[in-house]
Amino acid sequence: MSRPIALLAYQEADLEKQQIETGLKTTPNRVKLNKLAKYIKQQQGTLTKLSEDMESFSSAMSRLNGQYNAVLDRLDLESSEFETLKGDEECTSEEMTEFRHDIEKLQREANKLEKEIKQLFHSLEEAVSEYQKTRQQGAKAKKEYDQLKVVCQKEKDEAAIDMLAADRKLEELEKRVNPTLMNRYKRVRLHHNMPLVEVRDGKCSGCNMSLPSLAIRRLVGEDMILECENCGRLLYADNE
Ligand SMILES: [Zn+2]
Repeated sequence: MSRPIALLAYQEADLEKQQIETGLKTTPNRVKLNKLAKYIKQQQGTLTKLSEDMESFSSAMSRLNGQYNAVLDRLDLESSEFETLKGDEECTSEEMTEFRHDIEKLQREANKLEKEIKQLFHSLEEAVSEYQKTRQQGAKAKKEYDQLKVVCQKEKDEAAIDMLAADRKLEELEKRVNPTLMNRYKRVRLHHNMPLVEVRDGKCSGCNMSLPSLAIRRLVGEDMILECENCGRLLYADNE
């Protein structure tokens, strides 16, 4: 008889405990909670980006406003000089034309700046409204998250009783297992959820690798447990 009965019983209880743990991480509430957390994080990223946008729109606007005011000042100055020249009999028509051109050029510049400022203002308004919308959505999600977190905690507390029972069962079962074997099991358990597997059709049923016939003969003949050279799981052969 080669079946390591005590260790197999231990492994079964171990798998049951793992199921409780996995189940706890994947309850519908827990899944929703994780989704909400991700969503809230995204919203925060969006808010940061939007406030950066708002900042840069504002500073661009104040820079353009400054340019616009300077152009308007020059326009005022040139216009009043032009009025003075109009009364001056010595002023030639070429000079008058040049003056008019200057004024027209300033006017075009002012119009262009005005348009740019309006566009920026529009962008700023949009960013502000997007920011407010995102913040409201974020606040709503946060509220939902907080409520759900309480529910998840309750689930966890309830499962803690099952976990405790599972731990006790494991402690009991461990007493029946050879300590050296138990240590080997625990070492493999760090890498595999199911450390102990059967040899089936000459293969490790954990990783499906074919085993050397010598290894199989030893397993069957000497009533022992080997480690799979490929995956490291503990192998046993069922001789019955
Ligand atoms: Zn293997």
